[in-house]
Amino acid sequence: MSEVRVRFAPSPTGPLHIGGVRTALYNYLFAKNTGGKMILRIEDTDQNRLVDGAEEYLIDALKWCGIKLDESVVDGGDFGPYRQSDRKEIYLPYAEQLVRDGFAYYAFDTTEELAEMRERMKAAGVPSPQYNAVTRTTMQNSLSLSETEVKKRIDAGDPYVIRIKMPRNEEVKLQDIIRGWVIVNTNNMDDKVIFKSDGMPTYHLANVVDDYKMKISHVIRGEEWLPSAPLHVLLYIYLGWEDKIPKFAHLPLILKPDGNGKLSKRDGDRLGFPVFPTEWKNPETGDISSGYRENGYLPEAFINMLAFLGWNPGTPQELFSMDELCKSFSLERVGKSAAKFDFDKTKWYNQQYLRSKSKEELSKDLQEILKQNGVDANDDYVKKVCEQLKERATFIHEMWEEGQYYFISPTTYDEKTIRKKWSKETPRHLNNLKEKLVSLNNFSSENIENVFKAYLEESKIGMGKLLPQFRLSLTGLAMGPSLFEIASLIGKKETLKRIEIAIIKIQQ
Ligand code: GLU
Repeated sequence: MSEVRVRFAPSPTGPLHIGGVRTALYNYLFAKNTGGKMILRIEDTDQNRLVDGAEEYLIDALKWCGIKLDESVVDGGDFGPYRQSDRKEIYLPYAEQLVRDGFAYYAFDTTEELAEMRERMKAAGVPSPQYNAVTRTTMQNSLSLSETEVKKRIDAGDPYVIRIKMPRNEEVKLQDIIRGWVIVNTNNMDDKVIFKSDGMPTYHLANVVDDYKMKISHVIRGEEWLPSAPLHVLLYIYLGWEDKIPKFAHLPLILKPDGNGKLSKRDGDRLGFPVFPTEWKNPETGDISSGYRENGYLPEAFINMLAFLGWNPGTPQELFSMDELCKSFSLERVGKSAAKFDFDKTKWYNQQYLRSKSKEELSKDLQEILKQNGVDANDDYVKKVCEQLKERATFIHEMWEEGQYYFISPTTYDEKTIRKKWSKETPRHLNNLKEKLVSLNNFSSENIENVFKAYLEESKIGMGKLLPQFRLSLTGLAMGPSLFEIASLIGKKETLKRIEIAIIKIQQ
């Protein structure tokens, strides 16, 4: 097989949503699996739809995901430029070649004329009228007008587009790696515009010309582009590149969690989870759409979840690092049917990856959150906190939210525990326990536990009479990791102080 070269070709019309990231990911995994190259091409020929900051956004988002590019607007490469607006001059000669060879034609129709044709066809009983082999004969184009008239109009600077001349009743075939053979009759295809009156190619022409010029071997993209694929195949053939047609793989849709329809950009925060990899601020409205990164997701978890939205390894293994994905991925194992997005599974992945992190990695991230909250803590201490909390947390920020007591004395105490567990006897027991702890030299969790249990025995009370109250004093909460470990970590002085404060505050 000649060198694998794949491309991710987004249009910078807004933030990249989950589906787009998955397309980029599958391209990347396929490239890495086959020793090929991953290219990012910015498809910005539709200048009216460009959105400020969208290109920067997608480059930054891919970087966060760990999807590395071999060639792009940032990385350069031998097949540049990698932004279509910077390749503007490349396309017109190809469109003109198609006209010369009889595969395309000039069309001068105004918006009104096009609307009039549609009305006329609808009135004649055609539900979705098209510009095609039948209607083109009634329109203003270089097939219906005389050569002199066409020349006159072009010389006069009349605006025109170039349309593909779809043949009658021919079969276009393509073999899709995921979907098998796709066969379409040209009677069901229209004379698509391939070059616009603003001097820019449309998506179809630019996409095909660039895939050819960039030596793309495989086109891996979302299923929504499948209807365009036969047209692209025809363009390859008409441009004389039949032996260079790339292999196609159209990826299944990603559905909303309830399976009702495609997961869309608008579903974002509306359904209670982000649909963007990183936060997006709409430059026009200032509206913020949340991102996985800002919500505390680890890129490894996000990527692992995405990889499984359509692909499976054929084994029960669910956790795959990016390297493992690169090694295991194949397009043959991408399913045809749409994949339902499962937000809970995404959380599960995050929890798994959080657990697999070393205390060094975790403490680095937690330190950042601590700094943002004005807490100055020693690295070794933070590492120990991470060890105690990591089994319980799904997100790193939860370690701060739920483990603040490791860094600051509680300011409030869980009301329900007070109501249920705090009795008249509690202060006395806590004071007694405190007295016992004072004389403890080695404040290890085992020693604290031994002292605690000895006191229960000596005063003939059960766990329930003192453990929740002790926890409440130290943490303000009803639940958490082993209390003896917490006490040992915050230290003797702090433990004793917190007991004292709790007795005073809770009695009030
Ligand atoms: N520019 C198209 C998009 O926005 C690319 C489709 C393709 O990969 O051919 O998705």
